[in-house]
Amino acid sequence: MQKINVKPGAKIEDYKAYGSLYSSVLDFLEQAKKPTKTLKGTTVWMINSTAIGGGVAEMLPSQMRILRELGVSIEWLVIEAKEKAFFDITKRIHNAIHGSGDGIFTEKDRTIFEEVNRQNLSKALELINEGDIVVVHDPQPMPLAAMIKKEKKVSIIWRCHIGLEEDTEVTDAVWNFLKPYTNDYDHFIFSLPSYVPKGLKKKTTIIPPAIDPLSHKNRELQLHKCIGILYQSGVLDDHKAMLYHRYEHKVRKVMPDGTFDFLDADENLDLIYRPIVTEISRWDRLKGFKELMQAFIKMKQDNRKNGDPKSLEYKRIEMTLLVMAGPDPAFVSDDPEGEAVLKELTEAYKAVDDDMKNDIAILLLPLDNPKENALIVNALQRTSSIIVQNSIQEGFGLTATEAMWKRKPVLVSGAAGLKLQVEHNKTGMINEDPTDIESLTKTLTFMLNHPKDRDKWGFNGQLRVIQNFTLFSQLISWLEVLSLNKK
Ligand code: UDP
Repeated sequence: MQKINVKPGAKIEDYKAYGSLYSSVLDFLEQAKKPTKTLKGTTVWMINSTAIGGGVAEMLPSQMRILRELGVSIEWLVIEAKEKAFFDITKRIHNAIHGSGDGIFTEKDRTIFEEVNRQNLSKALELINEGDIVVVHDPQPMPLAAMIKKEKKVSIIWRCHIGLEEDTEVTDAVWNFLKPYTNDYDHFIFSLPSYVPKGLKKKTTIIPPAIDPLSHKNRELQLHKCIGILYQSGVLDDHKAMLYHRYEHKVRKVMPDGTFDFLDADENLDLIYRPIVTEISRWDRLKGFKELMQAFIKMKQDNRKNGDPKSLEYKRIEMTLLVMAGPDPAFVSDDPEGEAVLKELTEAYKAVDDDMKNDIAILLLPLDNPKENALIVNALQRTSSIIVQNSIQEGFGLTATEAMWKRKPVLVSGAAGLKLQVEHNKTGMINEDPTDIESLTKTLTFMLNHPKDRDKWGFNGQLRVIQNFTLFSQLISWLEVLSLNKK
């Protein structure tokens, strides 16, 4: 078990200094008074399985900084595991909660699952005091609750960041496997009501994920800075004098022959001059990249067949670029699924007509430096005209939240997490079925050809995020749950 040191970062005053966040911060401070008082003398222990990568590790530091500023004592522990078998099991548990895999879990799995957690117990017991509150994130450290409770009188909450809208044989099987551990928890937190497994409905609170508006992924980037990052990461070429040096690792692109290479002058995407449709996600079949590419191609073909070449609409569609970006596999050593999906997409791209290849950019974003990766995502999102999240299934879809915060119009599928965020025709557009290429094509074309509506959706989207999906709205719910569980 490792205790993680949280580095200093944005303060409450820094958030309050943003006009658009000012009143959310004031509301937060007002509502936080009572629960903060209740929590005096109690330490909150967050326990998860990684200090870098993944949504939990990304959000915890900013949440902790703000709670600490309010006087809440909060610490972060990460479980350690030497056995690879442990992460194989927890990956299978993770996939099964999402409904995939065979749903088979053996007693041997259980032994390894519990044993690794037991190895982490003594350090946890050294640190945690009677009366503290422990929050266990996701399945990996789940067996710890019973072990801690045997030794100390504490409240323990389980925060599950994943889920599937419906019950299947596989989800039933995994929840059955996890059932013995749920008994020892005092409270559960899920992201959406439909993710709560059958038996748990009683002691559950729903807290949707949220973004930190001042993180590198979401902070404001002025035009000059935005262009600078695109240059630094190698997405734009260097024919003009630039203030900053290039990053050590640059963005690569899938070339017309299917190889991966850095962009050079010949591959110039003219990114800052063209309308851009962007989807940024992990290379996962459920993110609907292939379907999006099909719809994009169809939109261009239909335009060439039926459009009036003299019209602005025709030119706009003709000029539009599709950007599909995700992690560079060179930096993700243990994701064979991701590599296979990228390969499928690359093969599909290779088969695209030559005259359309330059309208589709599959970008591979380096992951070695989290700050640079976040800034590249931020700059790409800000350069886009429309941000798509065409997910066939989606936990929540933080990419949509990030886009809306940046006042970008979003086109999302009807997956539960996305539908919770996007109000159709108000804060973006919902194309219910991400595999319905015909309707996806129509929605995309409509959005591109209605720039004023796009502005309106973008503005409304930001407001929706400010009111519901920032750190502050989330922390209020957290404080309520925590103070409710103080013994
Ligand atoms: N992301 C990133 N770099 C990439 C691809 C994705 O930083 O190359 C980020 C993206 O900005 C978002 C997160 O990964 O913050 C994905 O979260 P989301 O909820 O959209 O989907 P998940 O990956 O959890 O299924």
